[in-house]
Amino acid sequence: MNTPPITAVATILVVDDDEGQRRVARAVLEAEGFEVHEAADGIEALESIALSLPDIVVLDVEMPRMNGFDCCRELRSDARTRLLPIMMSTGLDDTESVTQAYAVGATDFTTKPTNWTALPHQLRFLLRAARNLRQVREYAEQNDALLRALPDRVMRMSVDGEILESVWTEPSADPEAAAPPRQFISSLVGTKIAARALASLREASESGQLSTIEYEVAEDHAVRAKELRSVSCGAGELVVVERDVTEAREAQARLRQLAYIDSMTGLPNRTWLLDDLDRRSEASSQPFAMLFIDLDQFRLVNDLLGYDGGNEALTTIAERIAVRLAAKSSATADVDGYENVLVRLGGDRFAAICPQCDSPESLRAIAANISAAVAQPMLVTGQELVVTTSIGSCWYPDDGTNGIRLLQNAEMAAREAKSAGRNTHYEFTSSLRRRAAEHVDLVARLRRAIENDELQLHFQPKISLGTGRIKGFEALLRWHCARDGWVAPMRFIPVAEESGLIIPLTEWVLRSALRTAQFWHSHLQQIVPIAVNISARQFALREPAELIAQALRNANMPAQCLEIELTESAVMIDIAKTVEVLTDLRGLGIRSSIDDFGTGHSSLAYLRDLPVDAVKIDRSFVTGLDASDSASNHVCQTIVTLSRGLGFEVIAEGVETRQQQEILRAMGCDQAQGYLFARPMD
Ligand code: C2E
Ligand code: CA
Ligand code: CA
Repeated sequence: MNTPPITAVATILVVDDDEGQRRVARAVLEAEGFEVHEAADGIEALESIALSLPDIVVLDVEMPRMNGFDCCRELRSDARTRLLPIMMSTGLDDTESVTQAYAVGATDFTTKPTNWTALPHQLRFLLRAARNLRQVREYAEQNDALLRALPDRVMRMSVDGEILESVWTEPSADPEAAAPPRQFISSLVGTKIAARALASLREASESGQLSTIEYEVAEDHAVRAKELRSVSCGAGELVVVERDVTEAREAQARLRQLAYIDSMTGLPNRTWLLDDLDRRSEASSQPFAMLFIDLDQFRLVNDLLGYDGGNEALTTIAERIAVRLAAKSSATADVDGYENVLVRLGGDRFAAICPQCDSPESLRAIAANISAAVAQPMLVTGQELVVTTSIGSCWYPDDGTNGIRLLQNAEMAAREAKSAGRNTHYEFTSSLRRRAAEHVDLVARLRRAIENDELQLHFQPKISLGTGRIKGFEALLRWHCARDGWVAPMRFIPVAEESGLIIPLTEWVLRSALRTAQFWHSHLQQIVPIAVNISARQFALREPAELIAQALRNANMPAQCLEIELTESAVMIDIAKTVEVLTDLRGLGIRSSIDDFGTGHSSLAYLRDLPVDAVKIDRSFVTGLDASDSASNHVCQTIVTLSRGLGFEVIAEGVETRQQQEILRAMGCDQAQGYLFARPMD
């Protein structure tokens, strides 16, 4: 708000029954830039003020009708003029009338005869003081309104806890009533909390910092959560704010609940588990066991029963495990640290903490108990099913001292149980730990291999059994690690698939295969197709057709220079998706073949529907070929006959002898690849 500056024209009402006195005053004050109004007595003064409020009044004492004292008293009783500056002009220099002037509310006084030189300065001073006072009042009123508008109770308190002043929204006592009895902090927080609250006041007073305590009080048959914040305002006094935080606390609890609970089973979730494991391990070094429980092939259950049926099965399984563990089934109930807890990690994976388990024997018994409970047949949407589990376990603190580590290690043991054929329990062991470390190391080195230029492509020719001519090459990845020398693809390809590094790796393979194709094309003036192996993971992760089309565009090469090989097991992961991708590739003009054919069991039936151009008989069958009537001979003959019947070319892998070559040719096999003709070469 803007109070006009003192230099703006201020209006002065001169009240005096002496006309001469008024005239001189007008002349002097107008010469100083004031606007002057006149009144001849108290009554006239009140009338003039009612019409227009001056900035200041110069009031004579001795006047007819109404004297200056009465007029001043009158003005002070009116809210509009309570703060109006009034300068009493007493005729006599007696203390009596000076005292009386102040008693009726005069702001200041001056004595007659008037000192005309000093008067304008005195008036200016009064105007300035009045303006400042008005401003302070306005601020105070605003402050007060603000404090009242807050839901908090704001108080001024002594360091001994006496409430000196309180601004509060609740209806306060009648202001006219007698002064209320002295109140202390204990009336606010209750006697139990009083000592703690006093300590907080003292701390705030001594440190000069904000001090906060939280407490609970019973109000209207309910418990309310409150917060008391104190900050020193000097002179042994504090400003204290009492706030009701019940709703805020409840909202916090609800959020916590949402963040920590799996909504389907009501079990604590992974976030809760990691927090809880960290909390436990910080609190003590008392050993406890942790289990990772993975349901076997639950995807099939989902396929069979649909999403809802799958959820029903999961809920039933969760209940069964919880019962066997006698576990608390809610994260909201404060876990006391000694009970077993069951957690849903997500999907079909659970974890359990068993704080009282104290030996490998009892851990094995718990795991066996869980497996048995889950494996009980159950009836879901009219279907009977049996679900088995792969369980991994580890110990705090031996196998990990924080949440992430413990969870990772239990999970690794569970994965081990899975690859050992499922439906079993594996403990985390030191050999697993070593393998885990090696794995991490290998991933790190493989990541650097691309940047460090440690990769190469080798090429192995495919030979036509009819003409003996080269029909194309297969590109095979080679890694010469700076530290460990050659690393076999069978070792690093699975690691690359698992870590996702297979994507940049395949991009690299495509780029260098196409660079070689370009080179051959410019030297031989003909296109020699190069087959690139695409991993199963690649099919799941990103659109391989898009990736390959992009590589061809970048190299500016025709589609005929590239072929892809996809293992039979990769095809089987998701037939529908594979058909889609292979159709896209065929649309681009890229030939494809099924690698390692015969090892993936079931795909003969699907072969007819696959848009591929060739089938590669797995090396294991070729190796078994001999002059006798062996099983391998039968398998190879069946594959060749069937594939040719469906219009596919047949390529035999791993041909090492003339005899194998002759048998394959006699069977009607189109091409062969193997050490007999050439090893993979750079
Ligand atoms: P694969 O696709 O079945 O490749 C054929 C493997 O057989 C190659 O092993 C090759 O060197 C070997 N081989 C060829 N002729 C003979 C033979 O007459 N006798 C014997 N005993 N072996 C023969 P390599 O290079 O060790 O590759 C192993 C596997 O690694 C490959 O099997 C393939 O699945 C994978 N791989 C290799 N390079 C890549 C790649 O660039 N990308 C992907 N995704 N996988 C690759
Ligand atoms: Ca291959
Ligand atoms: Ca193969």
